[in-house]
Amino acid sequence: MSQVEKVNLLDFDRQGLRDYFAQLGEKPYRAEQVMKWMYHHLVSDFEQMTDVGKALRAKLSEVCYVGPPATLFDKGAVDGTHKWLLGMDGGNAIETVYIPEPTRGTLCVSSQVGCALNCQFCSTATQGFNRNLSTAEIIGQVWVAAKQLGNYTHQRRRITNVVMMGMGEPLANFDNVIKAMSLMRDDLGFGLASKRVTLSTAGMVPMIDKLSDAMDVSLAVSLHAANDELRTELVPLNKRYPIDELVACCQRWLARRPRTSITFEYTLMKGINDQPLHARQLIKLMRKLPQCKVNLIPFNPFPGTRYERSEPETIRDFQTQLLNAGVLTMLRRTRGDDIDAACGQLKGQVLDRTRRQAEFLRSQELAHAD
Ligand code: SF4
Repeated sequence: MSQVEKVNLLDFDRQGLRDYFAQLGEKPYRAEQVMKWMYHHLVSDFEQMTDVGKALRAKLSEVCYVGPPATLFDKGAVDGTHKWLLGMDGGNAIETVYIPEPTRGTLCVSSQVGCALNCQFCSTATQGFNRNLSTAEIIGQVWVAAKQLGNYTHQRRRITNVVMMGMGEPLANFDNVIKAMSLMRDDLGFGLASKRVTLSTAGMVPMIDKLSDAMDVSLAVSLHAANDELRTELVPLNKRYPIDELVACCQRWLARRPRTSITFEYTLMKGINDQPLHARQLIKLMRKLPQCKVNLIPFNPFPGTRYERSEPETIRDFQTQLLNAGVLTMLRRTRGDDIDAACGQLKGQVLDRTRRQAEFLRSQELAHAD
């Protein structure tokens, strides 16, 4: 059997792997043994799985493999940020970024090759959309980073948090993202607590409700403006799911998780959304979600963008206005500028995007038509 016909075991969550082993006539505990090797010891060669019997190792090598994405390029920035360019089929590539901080290490993971949502300030959007990533391609990003960083689940944890905030809208690739996040959370996977796995969405309201039913993770919403006119300009998805609907959906999310919070991402762009009026609109919105917080992100310019980063004093004044109104507000430091790994700069390589973008948008329309 050639590699293309073989099954990639990174595509299965725990139950999927147990089912696959059952198909092979193997006991479920065998699947769990292999899973431990894959995620705790980051072993991809069945021969190194020494407590798995020789006959089973030979059988597995015949029909399946553990196949993380190939690293095309990786680079570290002076501040410790690390970026990987990972190869996908058809000449496409996606980016994954690691951001170390004194008390944690965050891995920013992509969910699609490109993105169809066309947020106006986003570098990924300029690439268009090609396709959804498979579960193996999503969890494989964590696997590659963990291996290179020397992250071992129960010994030496360098990746303490994962954010689905790289290329793509994760809720537009729901099933694969859910399976990958379940592997991030699973004790036999990367074993991260629910509050340490965050999904960031531009605001796909019905899918947020679906996520709420499916899994316990942290939620972040890319807001960027607190009035519909401006938000529709910056995040065109707002036309379909305007702010009132988004806020009501967030309230439903919190009603089911009263002790949690939602982070609202707000990228500050000079003269666009950084004025005192915008801060007042944001304060008014946050009053409806009192336990939530705002993450202010100074815009990272990229070639061809018409937006600019807000002045430092404007950013400070905006933050002060929010804090004075009692809104928990953090200012995200810009990291990895020297390797284009800052927020909104993930680009990768997206080929054959135009036709697929139109197809994808049509399929989303159909999937979410009420
Ligand atoms: S900000 Fe996120 S949802 Fe919007 S275009 Fe960029 S990757 Fe897609």
